[in-house]
Amino acid sequence: MKLILLGAPGAGKGTQAETLCNALSIPAISTGNTLREALKSGTEMGLRAKSYMDAGKLVPDDVVIGIIKERLQQDDCKNGFILDGFPRTIPQAEALDAMGVQIDRVIDIEVADDKIIARMSGRRVCEACGASYHMEYLKPAKDGVCDKCGGALVQRKDDHPDTVKARLSVYHEQTEPLKAYYEKQGKLRIVEGQEDVADTKRLTLAAVEAE
Ligand code: ADP
Ligand code: ZN
Repeated sequence: MKLILLGAPGAGKGTQAETLCNALSIPAISTGNTLREALKSGTEMGLRAKSYMDAGKLVPDDVVIGIIKERLQQDDCKNGFILDGFPRTIPQAEALDAMGVQIDRVIDIEVADDKIIARMSGRRVCEACGASYHMEYLKPAKDGVCDKCGGALVQRKDDHPDTVKARLSVYHEQTEPLKAYYEKQGKLRIVEGQEDVADTKRLTLAAVEAE
C-alpha cells in the first residue's frame, strides 16, 4: 500500500503516520524529520533548509524531491510506504507522478485553523528520536521525557504561535490545492480530526481499509 498523508501542520499527520506504519508494517517517511536530522548533523542540505523552516516557509521543491527520490529507492519501500508531509506543493506531486510512483490512497486529515493554533502551543518533540507528544492530548509517562528513548522533550522553533500562523497560510496557499489534485485521481479520503487521538486513529484505519 502506497499512502500519502495530507493535512495542515499540527493536524496530526505524524501520529497517524505512526499508526499506519504499525498497522501495515510499512515505513513512514517524513520529509520534516529528514530535514531536521540533516539540520542537526549540519549537512549542507540541513543548512540550506534551516532559514525556510524557522520562518515557517516551505523548503524548495528540488531539496525535498531529492530526499524522496533517494528514500523510495531503498529496500524497505518495496512493499509500500506512508508519505508524511510530502508532497506539499503541486510540483512535488507532479514529480512523484513523474517518478512513476503509483499512490493508492491520499488521506487528508482535516482540523480547523483555530484548533490547530491551540494544539500547536502544547506540542513537544523528542530531541533525540523525533517522537511527538502533547502536553494535553498525548502526554508522556514522565513530564518532559520521551517514552520511547528517554530523550528530552522540547518545543520546536516552528511551533511558536507566529510561525504557526505563517505555516497555516502557506498550507492554505500551496498544499491545500493537492486535495483537488488527488480528488481528480479518485484517491482522496477525508478524515475529520477528533479531539481524542484514538478516535482519529480508528477513522484513519477505516479510510485506508474501505474501498
Ligand atoms: P508539520 O507537518 O507539523 O508542518 P513537518 O515536520 O512535516 O511539520 O515539516 C516541518 C518543516 O519542514 C516545514 O514547515 C517545511 O519548512 C519543511 N518541509 C517538510 N516537508 C516539506 C515539503 N514536502 N516541502 C517543503 N518543505 C517541507
Ligand atoms: Zn525519543
